[in-house]
Amino acid sequence: MITVKGPLIMTPGPTYVDEEVRKALSNPITNPDIDPDFYEYYQDTCIKLQNLLNTENQVLILSGEGILGLEAACASLIEPGDKVLCIDNGIFGNGFGDFAKMYGAEVRYFKTNYRKAIDPQELELFLEENHDFKAATLVHCETPSGITNPVDQICPLLKRYGIITVVDSVSAIGGERLETDEWGMDIVLGGSQKCLSAPPGLTFLSISQAAWKVILNRKTPIASFYCNLANWKDWYEKQWFPYTQPISDIYGLRVAVDRWLEEDNPIARHAKLANGVRESLVSGGLKLYPLEGFSNTVTTISIPKGVTYHDIYDKMLKEHNIMITGAFGFLQDKVIRIGHMGENCYEEKLYLTLKALDLTLRSLGVELKGELDRTFVSAIK
Ligand SMILES: *Cc1c(COP(=O)(O)O)cnc(C)c1O
Repeated sequence: MITVKGPLIMTPGPTYVDEEVRKALSNPITNPDIDPDFYEYYQDTCIKLQNLLNTENQVLILSGEGILGLEAACASLIEPGDKVLCIDNGIFGNGFGDFAKMYGAEVRYFKTNYRKAIDPQELELFLEENHDFKAATLVHCETPSGITNPVDQICPLLKRYGIITVVDSVSAIGGERLETDEWGMDIVLGGSQKCLSAPPGLTFLSISQAAWKVILNRKTPIASFYCNLANWKDWYEKQWFPYTQPISDIYGLRVAVDRWLEEDNPIARHAKLANGVRESLVSGGLKLYPLEGFSNTVTTISIPKGVTYHDIYDKMLKEHNIMITGAFGFLQDKVIRIGHMGENCYEEKLYLTLKALDLTLRSLGVELKGELDRTFVSAIK
């Protein structure tokens, strides 16, 4: 049963929603289709997201969870027969290729070690030989494995060959550095429920001039209505939305974005606390799943021998009221994950989580060195 005061959710999204955001969700609504004030409000919210993404590109907020952004980018850019490069070092990276195929792309995978970040030098060598691509898909943070890819180096390499870059930054936006324009990211997409800590239900994306050119100059029509970004091109000038906007969700997102923008340095907070979490786990004798490229928004831990994911999950929840998660696909039952995203990325919450994990693992017979919570505290001093 879902109770009013549920467990501490320390999963890599959805994350804890602050009271200020929850209150905004219940603000009185207007009719967002016809009220000019709402068009201004939506526009202002997009401008705030431009600040967050460091871009002058147009930003849109769409009604649907992060996956919608991913599919909308593929549906709008790709025509049957287009060559698309799928940069793949994990479950989301690989899955991006499936979306491209759904819209008729001829997909070529650049697949690398799933325990490491994409190596820009390897990609550079690959591109020297193979660069006849209209677009490339890539993932900023591979959430299941806890790996952040160097998009700052990857996107400029792709742009050198005029390839449109489509970046799933759902689990990185707000927790990792992101310089959309400087790094040459054509489409960057994010979701409401990760580091921005609004409830799930919205996706937002920024679209460069180069990407708009492709979207608006296709030979074949876009085979979708809901995923058709072209429908949005002049929404402000025309004072027209393709469909009724989820106004309450946008109220919530707006407050979440404001909170992020008002904070002095949320990226540094994520880096510092993520580092503390990793140090605590490693000094305790646990093994992190990634060999390098550690994410600052989620930590993925290999499950120690002799215990199962369910043992850990159940005890954490029942005895400590803290929810952590495992992963899916090939990582199912192999790892557990702690999210340190947005509202969950605070010392107190991570301290409680590591303390509970320490007690849980010991009670399951796992030997640990030191105490996870204590090592965490000294690591972030
Ligand atoms: C969370 C997330 C999404 C959104 O997908 P869900 O399966 O609905 O959670 C997309 N991409 C990445 C990298 C994510 O972490």
